[in-house]
Amino acid sequence: MGDGMNFIFRDDEILLCESGIDFPNAHVCSFMGVGNNELQPLWLNGNSDHCTSHVARDIEAPPGFVFRKLRAVLGGLGEDGALVSRAFQVSEWVRTNRYCGVCATPMRKSETELCFHCPACGFSSYPRVSPAMMVLVKRGNEILLARHAIHATARYTALAGFVEAGESIEDAIHREVFEEVGLYVKDLCYFGSQSWPFPHSLMIAYTAEYDGGELNIQQDEIADARWFGPGAFLPDIPMVESIAGRLVRANLPPYVTSRTLL
Ligand SMILES: [Zn+2]
Repeated sequence: MGDGMNFIFRDDEILLCESGIDFPNAHVCSFMGVGNNELQPLWLNGNSDHCTSHVARDIEAPPGFVFRKLRAVLGGLGEDGALVSRAFQVSEWVRTNRYCGVCATPMRKSETELCFHCPACGFSSYPRVSPAMMVLVKRGNEILLARHAIHATARYTALAGFVEAGESIEDAIHREVFEEVGLYVKDLCYFGSQSWPFPHSLMIAYTAEYDGGELNIQQDEIADARWFGPGAFLPDIPMVESIAGRLVRANLPPYVTSRTLL
């Protein structure tokens, strides 16, 4: 398979060398039953030797390798992070598009692009990307941080939610902020974006200014939401490798302290 790297996934885990961040070569892949037919090229910039595949839940790691949670290692992958993020999304797309969604015929891989075609009805399937918004609400030199009810971690972060069909990013921000914490916002300002492969999100981050309303937390989604101002002791915030971590750190009130600030 040339000089490319191979990314092998099992559920939400990635196969890595026991001794560190190293990926299996073609021999290791074939030892696990992952041959050339199972290795899906990533088609990065239209041309790449990097390949991805997923294996069944009962497949064990070969000697010298170990499956690790992708979520736990993604932040430490550095420049390979975006590549691994793409690899995971492509392997999920392969895993979930074996049959045509229109007529249930087995799909065929395109030879020229990252696409499955249905030989019976002509339907095409490309890897899906689901846009989601993230917004840090500011009021003077205070910021609003929330702890999500569905995550096990106790981290406080910006508000976030998926863009719904027919919405702009801005529509989604106004709707989600009102639904989750009962506030109105204005002066939306783009901050940046990040691919988030759980399973195929594109997180698009903004700041916004408070424009009215009282904090009224939607209990299903938000466990707690609070304003933090100058000199506050912040709760744990997201890691700096995530866009949430960068968004919060770029907008900290003066003189705040936190266990997780560095
Ligand atoms: Zn079809």
